[in-house]
This record gives sequence, C-alpha cells and structure tokens, in this order.
Amino acid sequence: PPQAPVEALQHADLAALLPRPATESDKYRRGVVGLLAGSERYPGAALLAVAGALRGGAGAVRYQGRPAEEVVRCHPEVLLTAGRVQAWVVGPGSGDDTPEALDDALASEVPVLVDADGLSELARRGPGALAGRAAPTLLTPHAGEAARLLGGTVTADQVAAARLRHARELAARFGATVLLKGSSTVVARPDGAVRVNPTGTSWLATAGSGDVLAGLAGALLAAGLTPWDAAPAAAYLHGLAGRLAAGEPGAPVTASDVAAALPAAWRDVA
Ligand code: AMP
Ligand code: MG
Repeated sequence: PPQAPVEALQHADLAALLPRPATESDKYRRGVVGLLAGSERYPGAALLAVAGALRGGAGAVRYQGRPAEEVVRCHPEVLLTAGRVQAWVVGPGSGDDTPEALDDALASEVPVLVDADGLSELARRGPGALAGRAAPTLLTPHAGEAARLLGGTVTADQVAAARLRHARELAARFGATVLLKGSSTVVARPDGAVRVNPTGTSWLATAGSGDVLAGLAGALLAAGLTPWDAAPAAAYLHGLAGRLAAGEPGAPVTASDVAAALPAAWRDVA
C-alpha cells in the first residue's frame, strides 16, 4: 500500500504556526492550560511543566496537584482555582493522583496531552480509554513508555530502532496523535502521516526535559493548534532551545536551562 507522507517542519514553517497575541488579546484568548502534574515524590516535574507552559505562551496555567505551595513559590503566575481551561496536560510526575486526573481530563471536551505517569495509566487501561472522546488526544511517550502502550510486546530498544513504524502503530491503535521522543523525535497521526523533528541535541537527554516539552505542547494546544501542528512545533522549539542552551560545541544543560532558552528559540523562528 502507498505510504502516508513523511515530512519535516522547516525553520520558515514555524512562524506561521506559532500563536501571536492580537492587539486586543487577553489571557483567556491566549489559552489556559490545565495542568495535573507533580506529586510529593516528583514535585519538580510540576515546576518544569509549568515553566514549559508559561514560556510556550499560555495566557495562564491552572495547576491541580500536590506540591501546590512549591509551584506557587517558584511560579507565582499559576492559578490554583478551578475554572475553564482550553487544554489539559496530565501526567508528569503525577504519581498516585494520576488515575483520577486522567478520568477528569479525558471526560472534558478540550484537547488532552497525556505524558509520563498518565501514559503508564493509559497503558493499563488500553486504547478503549480514549474511545469516547470528541476532542483530540496527544500522547508524548519516550521509547519505554511507547513500548508499555504497545502492550509490552516490544522492548524500548525495538521501538527506538524503528521509530516511524511504532509511532504510526501507536497512533492508529489509540486514535491519537503520538509524539515519540528520543534521539530523533517523530510525530504520527492515526492515518499514518508523520512529521520528523529536525532540531534537538543529545544534551536534552536529562531529567525533566520531557516535562518542559509537555507543558510547551500543552500551551500550543490551549492556543488552538491541532495536535498535528502543536506537537511538531513544540518539538522544534524544544530542540532549538536545547541547542541554544547547550551552545556550540555544546555543554551540559538542565531542563530549567532549556525552559529559560525557549523565548530565544521562539524569537529565532518568529
Ligand atoms: P523525557 O524522557 O520524558 O524526559 O524526555 C526527554 C526529552 O529529551 C525528549 O524531548 C527527548 O526527545 C529528548 N531526548 C532524549 N534523548 C535524546 C537524544 N539522544 N537526542 C536528542 N534528544 C533527546
Ligand atoms: Mg518524561
């Protein structure tokens, strides 16, 4: 059968995709991200996802999770009140709160990004968990999480060795857009179309890096981008921010450094 297309977003494509606040914009129109992340064991995941969402242009982040005091101390911008959100991000470090958080998010009528602990919970539930959704779902696994989502029939190494095939298979099975992270990040749609990310650096292989990406992609979803645009745009900016933070010829960076470099990456493509 004919293969669905494989493309790569180019530098020049990004400017058209990235949201820019209109003169009369306000924080609600820019997009509010609902974030269910962090736990007593993994408070940092919440902080990094908030950083990614705010630097990704979210008008506001509504945070629901346990280390709320720490999140507010580190990011006084966050809202702890319930209210309307335009996209949910569920899973970075979310621990024991994950099943309930996932229930709430999946029951909503807005796009949902599922990452990390949310993906482990989704792997337990299987593809049927997304069956009733009208709004789109974006899954952001690394190779190990992708292997679990595929039911443990493949190893993480096998997923990493054939990224396009496994990303497509996951997208088709779950009826969701899949951003498969790693040395070469790919985004697959259920119909088999794939976008390969041309940016990035192996300096991004550091704790918390994926949490920043989840928040960033969530902000783009909340701004109204489809998962098919939000996921590759987020991967592009994240990879570019990693390169800018690491510099030339490169040096170790933290996930916080990557988040801090997002505005420079954004300016670079805008
Ligand atoms: P996570 O495993 O959730 O922390 O996400 C790791 C992040 O770092 C993802 O954005 C990956 O694409 C990126 N990453 C991990 N390993 C590499 C690598 N070898 N080269 C480039 N990017 C990587
Ligand atoms: Mg992760």
